[in-house]
Amino acid sequence: MQAAGQVEEFKQLTLRKLEDLRCPDHRQPPRLLFQGATLRDISIRLKACCPKLAALANQKIAGR
Ligand SMILES: [Zn+2]
Repeated sequence: MQAAGQVEEFKQLTLRKLEDLRCPDHRQPPRLLFQGATLRDISIRLKACCPKLAALANQKIAGR
């Protein structure tokens, strides 16, 4: 389906933005959970080792 392809693309794009991000304190990568079947419904749940990494990851996701 078209919608599923767009969601998959969005996931890949978002994951790519974060692929070289590691926490400066704990050397951990952030984990992402995607919820929703369409681009309109989709939401990202971010799991990070600490608030510092969560803030860095959010910046990256919001950026290009
Ligand atoms: Zn951390």
